[in-house]
Amino acid sequence: MREQLLKIEDLWVHYKTDDATNYAVNGISLELQAGENIGLVGETGAGKTTTALSILRLLPPKIGVIKQGKILFDGQDILKLTESDMRTIRGNKISMIFQDPMTSLNPVLTVGDQIAEVLILHNESDSSEGVQKRVDDILRLVGIQAKRKNEYPHQLSGGMKQRIVIAIAIACNPMLLIADEPTTALDVTIQAQVLEMMDNLKNTLNTSLLLITHDLGIVAQMCDRVAIMYSGEIVEYGTVEDIYGAKERHPYTDGLFGSIPDLVKETKRLNPIGGQMTDPANLPAGCKFHPRCPKCMEICKTVQPKAIEIQGHQIKCHLYK
Ligand code: SF4
Repeated sequence: MREQLLKIEDLWVHYKTDDATNYAVNGISLELQAGENIGLVGETGAGKTTTALSILRLLPPKIGVIKQGKILFDGQDILKLTESDMRTIRGNKISMIFQDPMTSLNPVLTVGDQIAEVLILHNESDSSEGVQKRVDDILRLVGIQAKRKNEYPHQLSGGMKQRIVIAIAIACNPMLLIADEPTTALDVTIQAQVLEMMDNLKNTLNTSLLLITHDLGIVAQMCDRVAIMYSGEIVEYGTVEDIYGAKERHPYTDGLFGSIPDLVKETKRLNPIGGQMTDPANLPAGCKFHPRCPKCMEICKTVQPKAIEIQGHQIKCHLYK
């Protein structure tokens, strides 16, 4: 049986500005076992990145506030650690791959130096020969020739830059890798290569993966479980088999599936979800999806649905009792 690596319990995160409070994450709970992959899926503004930044304690100071909840990582409550304890965890036990490789890399340092920086910070090797050998090994692991370590980010293609970002993230063999839309900025061919490489790395290093994406196809390819997020809540949660194969799903999940072209059936028009994501500063009463839900009932406008277990997975919706 796999050991529990990450447990988020009833997490609430707000962003406070002078004008408004944005309710970004509203009571989410999820678990991740060692070696397991979870996909966090939803539209922009669903609270996916805020969840990831909360795990790393990288919310914008004074504006991003964790109001309530626990984040247990490898048995420790992350929210109770000191900042210096967190620095030993970030980039070492938990790493994050950010969305855009263009802005994640330092343009005035060679890519080799940027990988070496992480190794030196976390004392992965004491001698400079040891660090350089490790840089060469990591570059080979992500499919880049070691001799290219002396190049600057602008000398590499988009796909190679993203491989360097991944190389930096895995340099210290993290227990948990958080990947925030790791392939969104890449074209489809490079996307497929990067995903295959991440999958191979996960198997080689036995790293757990929290994959943030809006692409259900990538989740099917990479993940064991999936959490569907809407307006800062997890509205559906279960294994990929349960949710993809289920007859009864949350209307929002159905909407996400309806937005994907079907390669088998002839479809004249896709069925996108109507309307806009709710304003996090002005959340509606009841079910937060009700202004956009094609199956909305009277009760949905006033009473917030509770999560119930159905066909092996959890759904928050009044349609299911
Ligand atoms: Fe739609 Fe009501 Fe279910 Fe919300 S609770 S998803 S509004 S049917």
